[in-house]
Amino acid sequence: MHLILAKSSGFCFGVDHAVTAAYLCLSDSARKMPTYMLGAITHNESVVSDLLSKGMVLADRVDDILPQSTVLIRAHGISPDIREELISKGCDVIDCTCPYVEKIHRIVRHADRDGKQIIITGAKGHPEVAGICGECRGDVCVISSEEELNGIRFDQKDSILVSQTTFSSEEFEKIRENIKNKIANDQIFDTICSTTVNRQREAHELAAASDYMFVIGSKGSSNTMKLYEICKSHCAKTYLIGDASDLADILTGINLASENVTVGITAGASTPESIIREVIRTMSENEAMANQEPMDINFGDYIDSIPQLRKNATVKGAITSADNEYVYVDVHDKSEGRIPRHEFANDPDFDLDTAIAEHLEIEVYVRSVRNSDMGKEILLSKAHVDFGKYKTQIEDAYENKTPVTVKVTNVVKDGVIATFGGVDIYIHRTQLEMAAVDDLDSYKGKTIQILITQYDPDKRRLRVSGSRRSLLNTQRRAKAEEVWGTIQVGARYDGIVRSLTDFGAFVDIGGVDGLVHVSELSWNRIRHPSEVVSVGQTISVFVKDFDPEKKRISLGYKKPEDDPYHDIEERFPIGSIVHGKVVRMFQFGAFVELEPGLDALCHVSQISNVRLNKPDDVLKEGMEVDARVLEVNNTARRISISIKEVEPIDPETPAEVVEAAPVEVPAEVPAEVIEEAPVAVPAEVPAEVPAKVPAEVPAEVPAEVPAEVPAKVPAEVIEEAPVEIAVQAVEETPAVTQE
Ligand code: SF4
Repeated sequence: MHLILAKSSGFCFGVDHAVTAAYLCLSDSARKMPTYMLGAITHNESVVSDLLSKGMVLADRVDDILPQSTVLIRAHGISPDIREELISKGCDVIDCTCPYVEKIHRIVRHADRDGKQIIITGAKGHPEVAGICGECRGDVCVISSEEELNGIRFDQKDSILVSQTTFSSEEFEKIRENIKNKIANDQIFDTICSTTVNRQREAHELAAASDYMFVIGSKGSSNTMKLYEICKSHCAKTYLIGDASDLADILTGINLASENVTVGITAGASTPESIIREVIRTMSENEAMANQEPMDINFGDYIDSIPQLRKNATVKGAITSADNEYVYVDVHDKSEGRIPRHEFANDPDFDLDTAIAEHLEIEVYVRSVRNSDMGKEILLSKAHVDFGKYKTQIEDAYENKTPVTVKVTNVVKDGVIATFGGVDIYIHRTQLEMAAVDDLDSYKGKTIQILITQYDPDKRRLRVSGSRRSLLNTQRRAKAEEVWGTIQVGARYDGIVRSLTDFGAFVDIGGVDGLVHVSELSWNRIRHPSEVVSVGQTISVFVKDFDPEKKRISLGYKKPEDDPYHDIEERFPIGSIVHGKVVRMFQFGAFVELEPGLDALCHVSQISNVRLNKPDDVLKEGMEVDARVLEVNNTARRISISIKEVEPIDPETPAEVVEAAPVEVPAEVPAEVIEEAPVAVPAEVPAEVPAKVPAEVPAEVPAEVPAEVPAKVPAEVIEEAPVEIAVQAVEETPAVTQE
């Protein structure tokens, strides 16, 4: 059997980054709990179940995610709406969207903003495609084959074509050829990931040259299924397997050992290396059992089960034990190799106890092989392998300006040291947040995303610096651009309160701050915005006005339906009796709170049946009163009420009141008082007015009696009043005197 493993097999950059971030995240004690993956982080069941067993939770929908938790976004990415939902839930979002996918989001977002029609080649229900479609408010169309193009009407200027990253490159080429004359050439974006293209090309070539072809991966993985289709079309004997356990049935039906056959193997982007190795090992053992002859196997970069223990080689081995100085590794040699124990201290995420218990297999670098009297001494290094592996990834992240997830391990004088798989990265205190950070210690143990801002491999010692601030700035600028491109009056946003001043609250609506003026925060009178909102709070706001040139946005927060004066005409009809509490008093009247934030005015003349100088002659703040509604107006937001029409409140010191109000006559005047009143009636008194006020004045004051007239004045008060008072009063109250 001639066994050939395709070079591009197993985890791609994007999936590897997401899976590494998931394990880093689980070991981060400072993260918000619980930690979710929104959709399986990879299509490989064994990786997903391992993460679940270590405490990660799988959520298929945002609704399944608890607020204030940590959420890991897989390489497929998500739509902007879902991201907003997570942020408004207060979740810490660890975004592992593959940079290739992010690029498609950007292209589509801008095209959609320009009103262009979007055509995506891909699978309709695929999460990556769904996330990209989420960028479109306008026309979007997903096609998976050339035939489906017939159903699309094109506009040369206004259409663009992009592709799902894992779409078949062959099919995309066919579609591109077909579509070339229908839309402008520079509007066709070949966004198929290069990893995918290489993988598919190699699979094609390998399948064409093989007698049997094995594709390792999950049926749920789009790129695995594409590989399978490609291989099948070039090699009829192509098998799709999930792992080595699927081989048993297949290998009983074919005889690889007895034929001089070539067997090709490829694997999808979500297939871990351990599964590929296991498949190869099973095949090899199967052949060895059937045929005792040595195998002709090309294991590529993956097979090192018979390691070449030469100095400077990198081989694989299983961790078996440890003492105070060394960790021992079985490298399939007569002697075990050993790694200085301090190398493991550089990798805070490595759990040595578990590694020993599970005989974890790792890659190691052979520093030296020495034969001594004690036997063979093999000195290994794990740090050397890690450093080389992650150094390349860091260099890649630096050149492509893609974020990396790092863990803060140390606090130094002016910043922190974070690690990315053993590579130390310096982050200055000014580069941790948008504002300067004082408490550096709180970052220790935290997992954060940063951009690599300095990568200097030329110095004797590799120097790497990072900045979270640059990343936040980049994200903020992109969001701001989006907000300014779509903003309109009335648009609603979920924003985060960034700062408070006496005149209002500044709210971040996604990369841009708008101002909610203090008067727009509440329907009630407030002295300071902090009475309603607090810094860091997420609130729903709407755009009242904006000026793109001055970059100013005025926001509203209070809602019409919360206005306490909403529909007051219906709720407090004229004539109805209301109950409330006196909250403020002025010379002209008292304000009575009927509901929180809803005050009615009781004019000073509507409090008592006697004339008052001011409301606090009889009222006190906090006093509860009943009153009748006299006037109500939705537009003017005003209610006038009368206390005296329900239960007048008269002063307890009437003498003072009368002195202050000498011109009024009480509505009810006791007969004996009237009889003692005017001796001489002035000439101006009309003829029909009797010289004497009748002995019995009606108990009820007629409507025409001025409001100021006290309802009842005791006899002794009247006795002290001058004679003329009564006469004048009679003139002013003709209805009474007429009787
Ligand atoms: S296949 Fe390509 S686009 Fe998809 S996650 Fe991997 S590297 Fe990213």
